[in-house]
Amino acid sequence: MTHLQPTPDGWEVKAQSASGTEHSLLARHVILACPAPAQARIVAPVDNEASEALHGIPYGPVVVVCTAWSKGSWSIDPEGFGVLLARNEAQRIGGIDGVLGMLFTSSIFPDHTHSDEVLIRTILGGSIAPEIFEASDQELIARARRAAAICLGPERKPPNMIRVYRHPAGIPQYRVGHPARVATVRAAETRHPGLYFIGNHLEGIGVKDCARAGLEVATKITARHPSDPLSPPMPVERSP
Ligand SMILES: Cc1cc2nc3c(=O)[nH]c(=O)nc-3n(C[C@H](O)[C@H](O)[C@H](O)COP(=O)(O)OP(=O)(O)OC[C@H]3O[C@@H](n4cnc5c(N)ncnc54)[C@H](O)[C@@H]3O)c2cc1C
Repeated sequence: MTHLQPTPDGWEVKAQSASGTEHSLLARHVILACPAPAQARIVAPVDNEASEALHGIPYGPVVVVCTAWSKGSWSIDPEGFGVLLARNEAQRIGGIDGVLGMLFTSSIFPDHTHSDEVLIRTILGGSIAPEIFEASDQELIARARRAAAICLGPERKPPNMIRVYRHPAGIPQYRVGHPARVATVRAAETRHPGLYFIGNHLEGIGVKDCARAGLEVATKITARHPSDPLSPPMPVERSP
């Protein structure tokens, strides 16, 4: 989505597909569920106050090291959800600075791999260790392997697969003043009926918070407009 403009009956929304094709549609309700910087850009011509508030929400960089192992690669095979490290804990242990935690992906999602394989997702960085983003892949992988060995025992076999994913704007930060920024965004919803903002940068970072916010907006719209189905949208115009 690239542009948003009020019309007498609602909103005109413009979007561009990956191939560059432009789409335009008219809608009575628009729910912006993209990250704060995108919401700030889209809403700038409509509500400068909301745009400024959204621009004021910073994001911490996150690196995810995904590894696949054969079972028996340590003295203990990982079971359960994973491990989260308290602030400064990684520094205290030593050699794993910047590690925020590990998700035992193969036990959370058993169908993601074979029964004789183990998947681990190690998360590093965030606002408490943003410098980790500059580390080399080799260094990040070494820290992820050390963290696994600390929890599960010395490594007996190397991983079968390693991938490193870097997210420069990974996790939104609820800094001092966040409630005021959220209040400004909510006030914009009151000024512009039919426009809604949700996403992990507003009132809850977890997947369940995001799902709840989506459900709340859908419930609000259907309660206010019981005869107004959420879909399909009004006629779509396409330009080549
Ligand atoms: C490494 C990591 C691990 C995490 N682990 C957990 C966990 O274990 N449990 C948990 O509960 N939470 C976890 N979280 C947090 C949670 O996953 C996210 O906060 C949540 O999924 C974000 O949902 P969202 O809908 O706000 O944003 P997203 O899922 O990021 O969706 C935003 C969407 O907007 C789209 N978009 C961007 N710009 C535009 C535009 N201009 N127009 C239209 N669309 C646009 C994007 O393509 C994207 O699809 C984790 C987060 C990270 C980074």
